[in-house]
Amino acid sequence: MDHFEIRDGAMFAEDVPLATIAEEVGTPVYVYSRATLERHARVFREALSGLPRIHIAFAIKANPNLAVLRVLAREGFGGDIVSIGEMKRALAAGMKAADIVFSGVGKTRPELREALEAGIGQFNIELEQEGVAIAEIAREMGKTATAVLRVNPDVDAGTHAKISTGMKENKFGVPIDEAPPIFARLAALDGLAMRGLALHIGSQIFDLAPIERAYAKVGALVMQLRAAGFEIDRVDLGGGLGVPYERDKVPPSPAVYGEMVARVTKDWDVTLMFEPGRVIAGNAGILLTRVIWVKPGVLRPYVIVDAAMNDLARPAMYDAWHDFEAVRPGGERMIANIAGPVCESGDTFAMGRDIDTVQAGDLAVFRTAGAYGATMASTYNSRALVPEVMVDGDKFAIVAERVMPEALIAAEHVPDFLKD
Ligand SMILES: *Cc1c(COP(=O)(O)O)cnc(C)c1O
Repeated sequence: MDHFEIRDGAMFAEDVPLATIAEEVGTPVYVYSRATLERHARVFREALSGLPRIHIAFAIKANPNLAVLRVLAREGFGGDIVSIGEMKRALAAGMKAADIVFSGVGKTRPELREALEAGIGQFNIELEQEGVAIAEIAREMGKTATAVLRVNPDVDAGTHAKISTGMKENKFGVPIDEAPPIFARLAALDGLAMRGLALHIGSQIFDLAPIERAYAKVGALVMQLRAAGFEIDRVDLGGGLGVPYERDKVPPSPAVYGEMVARVTKDWDVTLMFEPGRVIAGNAGILLTRVIWVKPGVLRPYVIVDAAMNDLARPAMYDAWHDFEAVRPGGERMIANIAGPVCESGDTFAMGRDIDTVQAGDLAVFRTAGAYGATMASTYNSRALVPEVMVDGDKFAIVAERVMPEALIAAEHVPDFLKD
């Protein structure tokens, strides 16, 4: 459920007409609903309420906007970071260092040092050499780093290849069969406190069966490591729950996921950690855009909107679907292609789609754009960096400004050797 609804013929974000935002901020613009974010955070937590000890860390890469992180920090979420930039955002938004988990396959030594300095709660180690490096740096600093070993369970999450992470040829984690000796060697290092395991098998998952299989494999490994004398007090189960990009394709609910987790983990006796991203932020945002032209096409018309692949990359990157709806639907439908102004054929949001009839000048939205939307935006074609707005009841605020080409040009330099 979200708070982007038609009222009296026009779409609102909570109690704010989208037309008002378009008028005051311009388009394209991302619009987030605070109430929707909070609702998703609470539904997720509620779904896990039957579990004895949990920690939830929002996957910051899904939406690193400070205001979004602030909402989630107030809901008691920590952050799952994959770079020091994300750590800085999490801390700036009020998340506690101890509630931050550092994932990612290419953490550099300076990043590891900075994270240790900040006192983050947990390192998710992706390969043995990384664990050795963390231990070394921690010893130099007179600290002990708390860590878990990320394992790759070799399970196909059944999702798009570019968002699968748990098959043996993927770059993430250590192969689960090789985990016990690696864990033992790392646990023997001073400066490192090895406390458990982590996994994350992919994103936009619709089928819980592969996740359940992966969790069961990790459960067996927990028991094996304990039997070998290691103290295992936590398992990080990652993120990955899907969201309904198409209204009629409904993913498993957090509640059903929670039941599965309770069943699989009932004998583990650990703190369970979760790293949801998309399921929290996806439906809490839309991308508001204006139709520039409706261009006659050979087969179908092209609706050319002022949002493009640089603002919302998912369709070009993953062939992703985003529902497209008029802000003021007139009741008529058309079959059209939807594309942006960027000079790439890939800058196409949909082909042959049945949509509300729109005309040049009309406002429209791409739904479910709150995750992996603005965070992936670029300025390709020297377009402005897309702004973000958050709505709270009948109020709204710009939470990320439109960065104009002038500001981008100001950060570039023509070197002396090119000046005559
Ligand atoms: C991206 C990522 C997540 C979040 O995935 P969602 O599908 O957005 O829930 C969680 N954990 C790790 C390690 C990730 O890389």
